[in-house]
Amino acid sequence: MSDTSSSPRACPNCNANAATPLPQYSRDEWRIVECKSCTMVYLQNPIDYVALEEDYAWEKTYAELDKERNRKKSWIKRAARQVRILNYRMKRDANERFLKILGPGNILDIGCGDVVRCQTPFVPYGIEISKAMQKTADEKMRALGGECVLGAGAEAIWDFPKDKFDSIMMHSYLEHEVQVAKILDGAMHCLKPGGKIYVRVPNYNALNRRISGPNWPGFRYPDHVNYFTVKTLKAVAANAGFDFKLVNRHKIWLDDNILALFTKPTTL
Ligand SMILES: [Zn+2]
Repeated sequence: MSDTSSSPRACPNCNANAATPLPQYSRDEWRIVECKSCTMVYLQNPIDYVALEEDYAWEKTYAELDKERNRKKSWIKRAARQVRILNYRMKRDANERFLKILGPGNILDIGCGDVVRCQTPFVPYGIEISKAMQKTADEKMRALGGECVLGAGAEAIWDFPKDKFDSIMMHSYLEHEVQVAKILDGAMHCLKPGGKIYVRVPNYNALNRRISGPNWPGFRYPDHVNYFTVKTLKAVAANAGFDFKLVNRHKIWLDDNILALFTKPTTL
């Protein structure tokens, strides 16, 4: 559970403590705030990693949230959701798409869940905090020459050797990570020079958030601890020494997600 006795979390981008509460987006005991220095929006009182591994395992939290959301939704919205799921499953070109962007080689998928997102000619590695999902992912990744380790991303990434990976996948991950600077420093360490991180996070500046307000699907309590805009995502990348490129630039104001590439400079 949340540790209310400890001091509030500092801004994950600029480390400042002064923040404006956003009560319209806060729920129960979970406090969403906006940094007064850099405008980063974040959860000020996240739960700790031990609780995440046990009480708040992702699969349980998602299942509960899904149930709650489905009750609130009309049948039209439920049908639309089923179509989206079907669409996703029919996408057989995802591996090709990632291959074009990232190139082959060792890839580390942080917070991979129980799926292998990138397959041959990638050699897939993963870090997963949920014990049940890590076990499944590890079996699948070992069959393809890689492995999935159990742990919190920002801790476990430091166990990999320097320059181990050709690319890193942070797909629906960075919004969960309390230690943003630590995971990006770890990525800088184990990524080869010129290597890229593919980042997908909810887009706090999306039109849908302005329309839907607290019902915007990007809000998940207490799972999502960082609510990035292009500006703040670019800032955390720059802080860690990465070059930043926005992938979905042309329709970013409409998109509920930000897709970006962080590149490790070759001069390092
Ligand atoms: Zn800040």
